Amino acid sequence: MTQDMLTAARLKERPLPVPQEGSKDERGSALVLGGSASVPGAALLAGVAALRAGAGKLKIATVGSAAMGMALAVPEAMVIGLPETAEGGVDGAGAAECLRKAAKGCDALLVGPGLMENGPTTALAVELLEALPSAAFILDAAAVCGLAAHADQIRRHKGRVVITPHAGEMAQLLDRSRDAVEADPLDAARTAANLLQAVVVMKGARTWIVDPEGARWLYEGGGVGLATSGSGDALAGIVVGLLARGVAPLNAALWGVFLHGEAGKRLAASVGPIGFLARELSAAVPGLLREAD
Ligand code: AMP
Ligand code: MG
Repeated sequence: MTQDMLTAARLKERPLPVPQEGSKDERGSALVLGGSASVPGAALLAGVAALRAGAGKLKIATVGSAAMGMALAVPEAMVIGLPETAEGGVDGAGAAECLRKAAKGCDALLVGPGLMENGPTTALAVELLEALPSAAFILDAAAVCGLAAHADQIRRHKGRVVITPHAGEMAQLLDRSRDAVEADPLDAARTAANLLQAVVVMKGARTWIVDPEGARWLYEGGGVGLATSGSGDALAGIVVGLLARGVAPLNAALWGVFLHGEAGKRLAASVGPIGFLARELSAAVPGLLREAD
């Protein structure tokens, strides 16, 4: 089976829900769990992107030391400060109870951007998955690397999990070398999709999007300027925003990759091929969504 190329024309076959008149509750509630003392901004980038993709409400759960700064930087969000380790990461055990409460009623959760430790982060993500049987999840960065140890639990949540690793994170997930992942990213993506029964976005200069049913899509746009710090956090935020709106995981992954890439193209045209900032990506998303209507 050959791959489908991810283009605007192909996405027209998979339209997003038309925003209805009504309250913000109807466009869903997203929660971003991310950030650490040294990288609090990753959760900010993702949270703002979720709102730009149209999520109705946003919560950001992050380390206590970053909570006030986050609340002032993203006044649109409800911010939850979590117990913190001596190293400045989220204290997984201490945070679990508080997170379960914060996550109640959320439609979509993103776990990972800027979190520090792989093991406790993954365990926290799995715990939240079990606690929220009807929410959709996107796991990124530190939340992806240790997932193989929890494959059975992730599999049970078939149909509502998206993962977005780059080659280094995929290498850790599959216990392969980074070179091996880069030599055959499609094989890595399919292996991970089968292992976890999840939608996989295998990021890189070319991005593969696959699901366990055998769908395989390739996106080749975007441009080298997207290879910049925080870019993946913006992508993950767009996807959780779409999931919050009720978009199915494969569609949210396809649209998210496309919107992120097209935003990169716009910035390359207006700012320059490199040197635009990840924080500038999400502002292009509402206009791109309007054009897609
Ligand atoms: P991360 O490494 O998590 O920050 O994610 C980087 C994002 O930028 C992913 O969405 C990649 O697919 C994208 N990206 C990285 N390098 C390139 C490139 N050379 N051309 C196009 N997109 C890229
Ligand atoms: Mg990343």
